Amino acid sequence: MTLDTLLGSLHLDPARLKAGAQPVRSPIDGAEVARVEFDTGQSLDAKIARAAAAFAAWRQVPAPRRGELIRLFGEELRAHKEALGRLVTLESGKILQEGLGEVQEMIDICDFAVGLSRQLYGLTIASERPGHRMMETWHPLGVCAVISAFNFPVAVWSWNFALAIVCGDPVLWKPSEKTPLTAFACQRLFERAAERLGGALPVLSQVVVGGREIGERLADDARVALVSATGSCRMGHALAPRVAGRFGRLLLELGGNNGMIVAPSADLELAVRAILFSAVGTAGQRCTSLRRLIVHTSVRETLVGRLKGAYGQVAVGSPLDAGTLMGPLVDQAAFEAMQEALRRAAGEGGQVSGGERLLARDYPDAWYVRPAIVEMPRQTETVCEETFAPILYVMAYDDFGEAIRLHNAVPQGLSSCVFTNDVREAEAFLSAEGSDCGIANVNIGPSGAEIGGAFGGEKETGGGREAGSDAWRAYMRRATNTVNYSKELPLAQGITFGAG
Ligand code: NAD
Repeated sequence: MTLDTLLGSLHLDPARLKAGAQPVRSPIDGAEVARVEFDTGQSLDAKIARAAAAFAAWRQVPAPRRGELIRLFGEELRAHKEALGRLVTLESGKILQEGLGEVQEMIDICDFAVGLSRQLYGLTIASERPGHRMMETWHPLGVCAVISAFNFPVAVWSWNFALAIVCGDPVLWKPSEKTPLTAFACQRLFERAAERLGGALPVLSQVVVGGREIGERLADDARVALVSATGSCRMGHALAPRVAGRFGRLLLELGGNNGMIVAPSADLELAVRAILFSAVGTAGQRCTSLRRLIVHTSVRETLVGRLKGAYGQVAVGSPLDAGTLMGPLVDQAAFEAMQEALRRAAGEGGQVSGGERLLARDYPDAWYVRPAIVEMPRQTETVCEETFAPILYVMAYDDFGEAIRLHNAVPQGLSSCVFTNDVREAEAFLSAEGSDCGIANVNIGPSGAEIGGAFGGEKETGGGREAGSDAWRAYMRRATNTVNYSKELPLAQGITFGAG
C-alpha cells in the first residue's frame, strides 16, 4: 500500500500534507513522508480562543450525550484500526503488532469513557449540623492541552482525550513534532464521529503543530486549565514551573527507569519471555521499557546466559515485516545517545554485549541496532539515567531487602516488577516498604499496562495518573456543597456569632 493510499483510507488529503515547511521522516528508512506547517503564536491564540468558546457550550451538554460522541469515535477507530496502526508504525517505527495494539488501546479507553460518562460521581458526606446535607459535585474543568511524545503517538493522547471529552472539556493536542500525521488522522476520525452525532457541535478537538516553543506557549496560557504532558523528565522540568507559576493544573507522565527483580525461586522461562518483550519491544522506546535487571547471585549466570541466547535470535528489521520483533530507533540522535550511554557504562566497568548498528547498508538513513545487555558491577550514574534505547543493565544482589533498596535508588518511579514464587517476597515488593513506583507487578514485566488501571509514576516520572480507575478526576473540578434545609443557621464547630 502506498503512503497516499494509506492517508486516503484515513480520509486525509495527501497533497495538503506535502505543502508545509517542516519535513516529517519515517524512522523505517529516514525518508520524508510529509511536510507540515508549524503553528504560529497567532494561530495558536485563535485555537485557544475557539477551545475556550467550545468549553462554554460543551459543559452544558449532559455527560451521557458527551459519551455518545466518544462511542461513535470508538466506532471510527474500530473501522480504521488497520490503517491507523500502519500509520503509527510508519511514523514511530514500532512493529505493526504494536501499532495495532496502540489503536486497540484507544478503542478500549473509548469504551471505558462511554461507561464513565454515566458515572462521574461524587460522595455524600454526613453533616454535623441538623437539617443540612453535604455532597461533592464534579464539574467540567476547562480547556485541556495534551502534549504527547513520539513513542506512543496516539494511545496516550486518547487516554486524555476520551476522558476529557466525557468530562466536558475541549482538547488542544500538541503531538510530538516527529509524529504529526497520526494526530491529523485521529482528528479526521473524530470529526467524522462528530458529524455522525449531528447537531452544531462546538470545536472540541484541535491539533497544534510545533515543537518546544509552541508547547511552552500552551503551558503559559491562562485559558488552558489543564496541561497534560507526556515526555522526558527534561521536558517536565522545563514545563512544570511554567504551569505551576500561573497555578494551572498539571498532569505529568515523564521518563521511567524501570526495574525487575529476579529472585532465586523465579520461573526463569517466564522471566526470559517477559524481559525480552519489555526490554527489546518497541526498541526499548517505551516509558515502561525494562532497563534494569536486578538478579539474585545464584541465578544470575543462568539467566544472563539464556538472555544472551534469546537476544541473538531477535529479528531486527523493518517494522512492517511480519517476522520483525524490533524496529529502528527513532532517529540519529537516539542512536548517538545509546552509543554514548554504552561508552559511559563500559567506562564504569560494564561488560557490553550487543548495541552495534545494523542494516546500515539497506537503510543508510535509518538507525537499527542490536539490543544491548550490559553487566554492571554496581548501579552507576549511567544506570540511573533513562536512555531511550534497548539497553538492559544487569546487576546482582544477595539479600532481598538490598534488591529493593537498589531498585528504588533511581530518580524515576514509573513501573516495576518482581519475578518470584515466594509469596513473602511478592507481598513485600507490593507493600509500603517495597517498590516506590506507580506500577508494581508480580511475575509480569513492567510494560504493556491495561487501560482499566490508573497509569503513571512517582518521583521524576511526575506523579500524574491517566487512563482507568479514578484518573478522570484530573479533568474535572470538585465542588463541595452544603445545603441547609432547616429554619436555623447553626455554625460549624458549634461557634456562636453575635445574638443568634
Ligand atoms: P520529549 O520530552 O523530547 O518530547 C515530548 C513532547 O514534549 C513533545 O511533544 C515535545 O515537542 C514537547 N516538549 C519538549 N520540550 C518542551 C518544553 N520545554 N515545553 C513544552 N513542550 C515541550 O520526549 P520524546 O522523545 O518525544 O519521548 C520520549 C520520552 O517520553 C521518554 O522520556 C519517555 O519515558 C517519555 N514517555 C513517558 C510516558 C509516560 O506515560 N510516563 C509515555 C511515553 C513517553
